[in-house]
Amino acid sequence: MKTFEIPEFYHSPLITQIKSYRKLQDPRKRDLSPTYIDFGPVGFYIARHFGFCYGVENAIEISFKAVNENPGKRIFLLSQMIHNPNVNKDLTDNGVQFLQDTNGKQLISFDELTPNDVVIIPAFGATLEVEELLKQKGIEVQKYNTTCPFVERVWKKSEQIGKENYTIIIHGKYTHEETRATFSRSAQSAPAIVVKDLTEAKKLSDFITGKKDANLFYEEFKDKYSANFDINKHLQQVGVINQTTMLATETQEIAEHFKQVMIAKYGEDNLKQHFADTRDTLCYATNENQDATYGLLKTDADLAIVVGGYNSSNTSHLVELLEQKFPTYFISSDKEIESNTLIHHFDYPNQKRLSTNDFIPKKEKVNIILTSGASCPDVVVEKVLNKLLSYFKGIKTKEEAFSFTNQ
Ligand code: SF4
Repeated sequence: MKTFEIPEFYHSPLITQIKSYRKLQDPRKRDLSPTYIDFGPVGFYIARHFGFCYGVENAIEISFKAVNENPGKRIFLLSQMIHNPNVNKDLTDNGVQFLQDTNGKQLISFDELTPNDVVIIPAFGATLEVEELLKQKGIEVQKYNTTCPFVERVWKKSEQIGKENYTIIIHGKYTHEETRATFSRSAQSAPAIVVKDLTEAKKLSDFITGKKDANLFYEEFKDKYSANFDINKHLQQVGVINQTTMLATETQEIAEHFKQVMIAKYGEDNLKQHFADTRDTLCYATNENQDATYGLLKTDADLAIVVGGYNSSNTSHLVELLEQKFPTYFISSDKEIESNTLIHHFDYPNQKRLSTNDFIPKKEKVNIILTSGASCPDVVVEKVLNKLLSYFKGIKTKEEAFSFTNQ
């Protein structure tokens, strides 16, 4: 896979040491078990896969290139480049300004843009409407377009199935930048609708089976379907695509659900006409990070720490998985760990910051899971590890604890 030039300060020699060791041991990425680092009184289970993905590194490389190539020019990002506060701050410190916030609220009016300005398209992509508007302003939208190729792959798939007359069901969070971009592009080729989870997918399928009165659809799915969506016509042939950072297993469940609904309604022999196969649109990084999290679930850890931006969808799903078994703390950086007894963390479903006392159990040996989302720099994970280590006495040196990587 292509490698990118990203600023040195995002790297962590310690984390690179772990990742390089695992890559050497398991080049085909078959082993999803975490790496265990034993410091004596504390041990860390480090996920097999975590941190910057292809799309994030691509976006960072292009964004810093835009900064370096355009001294003296105004540089704007359409919205947060990725969902990580550290990376976004590094860009704003370099003079980059955000045009919209993460929910699409305008921060700087498009009217202020001139053809001399630089606008960076974030990794999530942009809606067709915004892209068109920027072109009208004389902005070269393709010059610093950081849209992830794996997001574009989803767009291509939606275009393909849309042309084959399938209605596009998008598994995503309606307000998320990527889902808005995917929705706008899907709606260009076919009727499109967004469902946020399996529960909402089941509600939608009640309209396919006729369990529910068709008239209720427009209220229940308000603002989530494309213009001129006809409930009596547009749910006879469907295909499921996703916001690339959703829980992959849930996307598969949703697709399987619609498949079964279509089999029940039209018969197995007619499935192809009513249900499009879209299995190949899942993003590799989301899959790897989530699969590595299932590996973490097999451990005997006492707690789990997940590092990432509080608006990061992919990070939130790692938290969701780990919470099934461990006390799990979603933190944005080491600064959220205030002391050996107090941690501040984020409750993603309720969008609330919480504080927990005595988060480290009083035991002779404590095992901690450590992982991060696809937009979190490794250096932030290392800082978290160092902070946690500082609370334990009589620990092994890093050279001793990491000596297995030299074997
Ligand atoms: S998570 Fe996947 S789709 Fe999203 S930016 Fe990373 S590689 Fe691209």
